[in-house]
Amino acid sequence: MTYPRYQLDCGWNALLPRREANPSLQHDIEVDVAIVGAGWTGIAAAKRWHELAPTDAITLLDSSEIGEGNPGRNSGFLLQIALAEDANPKQIERMAQCNELSGETMAQIVAEVQQSGHQVDLQRAGTYRAAASRIGLKSLNKYRAFLEAARLPFEELNRHALRERLGSDFYQQGLYSPDCYLAQPAAVIRALAAQLPNDIQLYENTPALSLKNAPGGWRVTTPNGNVTCRKLMLANNAFSKELGVGGSRLVAMYTFAGLTPVLGDEQLAGLGTDTNWGLLPTHRLGSTLRRTADGRLLIRSMYGYEKEHSQHRIEAELAKRVRRRFPALANTEFEHVWGGAVGFTLNGGALWGEAKPGLFVSAGCNGGGTVKGTLLGRLLVDKAHGMNVPDVPKLFGRASWMPPEPLRTIGFHIASTVESWHGRHEL
Ligand SMILES: Cc1cc2nc3c(=O)[nH]c(=O)nc-3n(C[C@H](O)[C@H](O)[C@H](O)COP(=O)(O)OP(=O)(O)OC[C@H]3O[C@@H](n4cnc5c(N)ncnc54)[C@H](O)[C@@H]3O)c2cc1C
Repeated sequence: MTYPRYQLDCGWNALLPRREANPSLQHDIEVDVAIVGAGWTGIAAAKRWHELAPTDAITLLDSSEIGEGNPGRNSGFLLQIALAEDANPKQIERMAQCNELSGETMAQIVAEVQQSGHQVDLQRAGTYRAAASRIGLKSLNKYRAFLEAARLPFEELNRHALRERLGSDFYQQGLYSPDCYLAQPAAVIRALAAQLPNDIQLYENTPALSLKNAPGGWRVTTPNGNVTCRKLMLANNAFSKELGVGGSRLVAMYTFAGLTPVLGDEQLAGLGTDTNWGLLPTHRLGSTLRRTADGRLLIRSMYGYEKEHSQHRIEAELAKRVRRRFPALANTEFEHVWGGAVGFTLNGGALWGEAKPGLFVSAGCNGGGTVKGTLLGRLLVDKAHGMNVPDVPKLFGRASWMPPEPLRTIGFHIASTVESWHGRHEL
């Protein structure tokens, strides 16, 4: 399958008013540039291309609908600084440049959301990171070293302080960093798509099924029409490998989220003093949590290698993880659960650049691609126009090679079993 087909609807999108999707492509077209994937990366790339070449015909194709597809399925953290996994206190100069680029990109997102006039619950609420066990504490210490070396502001919290603010005594220790926005992600991506210039043609429900060279460029096949273009950009994340780009470096890792109904006053009173917060895990297999501005609890956790888990398994596992953290919510059922695909690379580096003449790709967000995807989408367009761009592979890493199947699947299952055991107290 060259595009994601989710078994469960996106919970964030279900909370929003119905949106009329743009029509799907129904005939052959010829354009200057075609972009596959109207997510954070693809929308940013389309806008940037239009800024640099306003008379070029630009088309964006998406297999899903804006808000319902992958870009709206995340936990809604928009990080202004490096993730704990990317942060390296020994490379402060490089990290400072990454953080500066991310900060500028975030400012552009905020400005566009404001211009759109959409209500997206965007707030610079910051983010907690907290550890429940020895392995989590080790990673928390590493992140603290990075924040200190980078002279970034943060606050340290012990179990008592975390309990008071978040209502859970699951965690032993935590850090709070103000450099993160929280938002309703499906609403944000709708707002960003609404800000596309009118002469960019967006086709929804239009999956790219295959690509091939055509005279002077590329041809993209979709179910009811072909797109011939001079330049082609793949911004479809994990699924670029299904179109023949990045197969040796990228896998689709599914992860899952559950959102409760708006909680009652009594339940909310037990959830600490902060009324809009987000918490990221310190262990790769840990859980992301949010208390939303409207009083819901979100949990994101678990991974599925190249496939989704059953609804029953997602609900049961996520509920167990909520119970461990908030025993008082043991009887609260989720209003929505869903899955989404992350473009995962072995070393966390990006798959970015000109893959073949006239064919560009930006993929491999590794679970933190709202702001980074926006940035790398814009920079890819600059590169396609021959501009001087920051050295993306040096700054954000270059996706490393992965062994082919079946070794890859076997390796993943072994690594995940070992990691799950080590990180079992953080799950
Ligand atoms: C549950 C979950 C929670 C997450 N939480 C966070 C978070 O809090 N913060 C954060 O920064 N990141 C988070 N992530 C990761 C984040 O969602 C991604 O990094 C981000 O969406 C990447 O943006 P993108 O535009 O590069 O790709 P995507 O968002 O994956 O967008 C790719 C688009 O391409 C389309 N597409 C795919 N194949 C085709 C095809 N063949 N033809 C046409 N269109 C196609 C898809 O429909 C999609 O719209 C999370 C991910 C998940 C699943």
